[in-house]
Amino acid sequence: NTVRFFDPALAAALTERAVLRNDLRRALAEGQLRLYCQPQLDAARRVVGGELLLRWQHPRGEVLPEVFIPLAEESDLIVAIGRWVIATACRNLAHWDQAGLLPPGFALAVNVSPRQFRQATFAADLEATLRQSGCDPRRFLLEITEGMLIHQVDEAITIMRRLKALGIGFALDDFGTGYSSLAYLQRLPLDQLKIDRSFVRNLSENPNDAVIVETIIVMGRQLRLQVLAEGVETEAQYAFLNARGCNQFQGYLFGPPLPLAEFE
Ligand code: C2E
Ligand code: CA
Ligand code: CA
Repeated sequence: NTVRFFDPALAAALTERAVLRNDLRRALAEGQLRLYCQPQLDAARRVVGGELLLRWQHPRGEVLPEVFIPLAEESDLIVAIGRWVIATACRNLAHWDQAGLLPPGFALAVNVSPRQFRQATFAADLEATLRQSGCDPRRFLLEITEGMLIHQVDEAITIMRRLKALGIGFALDDFGTGYSSLAYLQRLPLDQLKIDRSFVRNLSENPNDAVIVETIIVMGRQLRLQVLAEGVETEAQYAFLNARGCNQFQGYLFGPPLPLAEFE
């Protein structure tokens, strides 16, 4: 019982998305998905961690995570992809550990999407994968976002506590960009706060961003969390963050995301 106007541009965009969504199903099976790792450094510029980041090498050229992750999140496809990411993470960690390559305290950070985290079997699956791979859970850090916490915070806290008991760490990603609630910050069993790169980008030009970054660092430290700054591209940004007590740094200044073999 409605009348709608047809817009060819809209149809083209929808078709494009449908094609990509379809291709993404095959991408995992056909080995087109790759994991890269970007180094994370401490104040003395030693590598103390790495963040795993997905890449999709589509036959027609690379598709950006900003495009395909949201597509994967529309369905349970993100669950299959997420499982593969976690399995690959565990395998590599175990391998690096056995080869004696890991510096003391090294942790591998893995992004978890809201849909994946909400799966009833998420914690049990992760536990099983960790056990099978023989990797040390204390070397494992899960990056979650505020978006996944607005609904069912209590359930999220229960799952986090269970995983923390195994030794797994938690980082709150993109801090300051989502539905930030200071109430969560003290309730969640977190280890690390990641300052979003949108705040780091304009540190020297925008006095407001500088104040926000300073405040996040102070707050994180008071709550006894590690504070990591993302998107550090210049020495000036690093100097500013370091002088204010930021503990960890990640960005092109230190290194881009690298294929796992190169990261190793
Ligand atoms: P994110 O978790 O905020 O990841 C950090 C992004 O910042 C990465 O983009 C990284 O390449 C980029 N970056 C790092 N250093 C710099 C820098 O110095 N300057 C600038 N301008 N950018 C920098 P990437 O790899 O394109 O990933 C985009 C987003 O895709 C990620 O944002 C994350 O939300 C999502 N993503 C990536 N891999 C996964 C995954 O395995 N699972 C899930 N659920 N999401 C993922
Ligand atoms: Ca992240
Ligand atoms: Ca981030």
